[in-house]
Amino acid sequence: MPVPPSRLAAFAIALPIYRVFDYEVEAGDPLRPGTRYRLPFGSGTRTGVLLDPAPDSEVDPDKIRPAGPRLDDRPVLDEHMLALARWLAEYYLQPLGEVIFLCLPLRLHRTESPPADRVKRWRLVGEDPAAIEALARRSPRQYEICCALASGGMTAADLKALNPNWHAAVRALERRGLVAWAWDEPGTIELPAFSAPTLSAQQTGILDSLGPRLGGFGVHLLDGITGSGKTEIYLHLIRETLDAGQQVIYLVPEIGLTDQLIERVRERFGDCFELSHSGLTESRRYRAWDRFRRGERRIMLGTRSSLFAQCNNLGLIVIDEEHDSSYRQEDGVRYHARDVAIKRAQMLDIPVLLGSATPSTETLRNCARDNWYTYRLDQRPTRYPPPALQLVDLRHGRIDFGIAGAVFERIDTHLEQGGQVLIYLNRRGFAPVVMCHECGWQAVCANCDSRLTLHQSVGSLLCHHCGYADRVPEACPQCGNPEIRHYGVGTEQLEQGLVERYPQIPILRIDRDVIASREALQSRLEQLRTGDPCILIGTQMIAKGHDYPAITLSVVLDADQALFSAAYRAPERLAQTLFQVAGRAGRGDRPGEALVQSRFPGHPLLRALVERDYRDVVGDLLHEREQLGFPPYARVTMFRADAPALDAALACLQSIREILARTPGIEALTLIGPMPALMTRRIGRYRAQLCLLAPAYASLREVLARAMPEIAELSAARDTNWIVDVDAQDL
Ligand code: ADP
Ligand code: ZN
Ligand code: ZN
Repeated sequence: MPVPPSRLAAFAIALPIYRVFDYEVEAGDPLRPGTRYRLPFGSGTRTGVLLDPAPDSEVDPDKIRPAGPRLDDRPVLDEHMLALARWLAEYYLQPLGEVIFLCLPLRLHRTESPPADRVKRWRLVGEDPAAIEALARRSPRQYEICCALASGGMTAADLKALNPNWHAAVRALERRGLVAWAWDEPGTIELPAFSAPTLSAQQTGILDSLGPRLGGFGVHLLDGITGSGKTEIYLHLIRETLDAGQQVIYLVPEIGLTDQLIERVRERFGDCFELSHSGLTESRRYRAWDRFRRGERRIMLGTRSSLFAQCNNLGLIVIDEEHDSSYRQEDGVRYHARDVAIKRAQMLDIPVLLGSATPSTETLRNCARDNWYTYRLDQRPTRYPPPALQLVDLRHGRIDFGIAGAVFERIDTHLEQGGQVLIYLNRRGFAPVVMCHECGWQAVCANCDSRLTLHQSVGSLLCHHCGYADRVPEACPQCGNPEIRHYGVGTEQLEQGLVERYPQIPILRIDRDVIASREALQSRLEQLRTGDPCILIGTQMIAKGHDYPAITLSVVLDADQALFSAAYRAPERLAQTLFQVAGRAGRGDRPGEALVQSRFPGHPLLRALVERDYRDVVGDLLHEREQLGFPPYARVTMFRADAPALDAALACLQSIREILARTPGIEALTLIGPMPALMTRRIGRYRAQLCLLAPAYASLREVLARAMPEIAELSAARDTNWIVDVDAQDL
């Protein structure tokens, strides 16, 4: 008896555990990696993606269960995506099963076949009139169908209208070789003719030097001040890539405020692009993914996870605002979309284009070390340069709802001159502190180590970390003092104050509390677009990439929080925010002005930010980081645990520490902790962290590769979770 070929295969299942699962697959199945199956799992079923046919299974053969039906006709992940997923799982130490499913739209996480996105059409084949005539008596139903098909292809719906029992007849005709089906081919979409602005000399110069370098892998940083025409360069390169018959992934940090960008892309590329972001329904996102995969759409424009769009001939990845923290996924699978994009481009041997007015420290360091190409744009094609930052001293003079008298004067002047004003305040709600002046009681969250924010519009105190809500007490719960006060200013209070002060001027507030829908956001942006005087207030949602030429004044209400933050990245983030917010002003035919309020106008960082440019300031920050041995001069891997009690979280990390401590190679690294996390209690759980700091990637890699299998096996106490965070953003 010949030994039957092994029908075993390893499958990825979306579970937060470090293993894959072996199943037996039906004889005759092509066993193609990247295909989904319905798998029996425990007492239910799960979707699994086939990884390797015929693995050397270590599982007892009697325990291996047969896989359920195959869900796809052809793989949903191609070889390249599978390789990228394996790299991501290995680099970020994340479970492969979760990573594999991260690469797939949610619609394909279900144990079902994908929705029929294309239409089958049956046609006559074989050119055999005699055979058809022969059917006339023998099989009138088949004959009738052939006659109908003689005048053109028909879809299932057409056939059903002809004969409700068409299926069996068509099957028979297929077997006879008289009829066959094919997918309806999507019509190719024409690129519209468009008239781009004549490029500036700087823009042309950059395109000229980029051109010859785009033949293969390379990282290109477009380091251009705000409004210098970076997007124009992306659009040019995208066009060239499409003209070469290739596809493009174009990532932006947030889609909410990018309607302008979408319009620009539509103008240039008609319907050749797909949009993908978390605001779309599951089926819209699936359709976008699928159309891009089939090449029916040539550009995928979207947020972080659009990086995992699949296609046959990717030719370019563009990452706008590469410094933006939203490229980092901080829950579930932890990864940085910019870094994964660079890896993906390297695997495909294609260029990746990063753009920013405020490049991250990592990117600047990599440019210097790894010979990434840098291109500077230091002029705006419009009339005025971005405004320099000016400090406003908050220690003297009157302040109303957070705004200094001197700033009001400037706001008045800009409005009178017909300008629009942008006020940046990264704090939602009415007031961030609610307390009793008599005994010092403060409103705090029942589940987190955090204060509750007063939201007057809903009459509650809310926790911004867990959503806990409490009513505003009538008297101090601790001493009975009837006079509870609030301190500090949030966007809600700012809006209220401005509405009272400027009754004739539209006050447009943009933050998570008021922008429940895209429509709400659109109506506000519509107002901005009119160019009429108005005041735009908002959180970080408004600091990013948009281009409203009527804005002439940008104000940052509170830079001080960041000055004293414990996060080592806080100065870098503050520099980015200030330059980005300032850069919203003066993009049209009037010069801009940018004001920053502070109680510490002498602080060296603030002084540097107003006196020097972004590059200089970040150069100093890089120097400091090098002295301290912090990223990007070191690699940080953080183990984080959470549990109902702090002891349990610390104990879990202590076990991880012990494994690491006895791993060869650990001598070259620094272990810090375990210790309680900065916000120790969050959403009712206690959190702790263990930090592994390495001077270089290779040494870190080696230790983790040795230690992870044992760490992964660690059976933590019940209800204790741990995760690992490679290239963690904070210490
Ligand atoms: P960035 O991406 O650097 O912020 P954009 O490409 O959005 O810059 O350009 C800023 C503004 O200048 C946009 O309104 C854009 O249409 C305009 N612009 C860009 N390049 C040119 C050019 N060569 N000539 C005229 N206007 C331009
Ligand atoms: Zn009190
Ligand atoms: Zn809370």
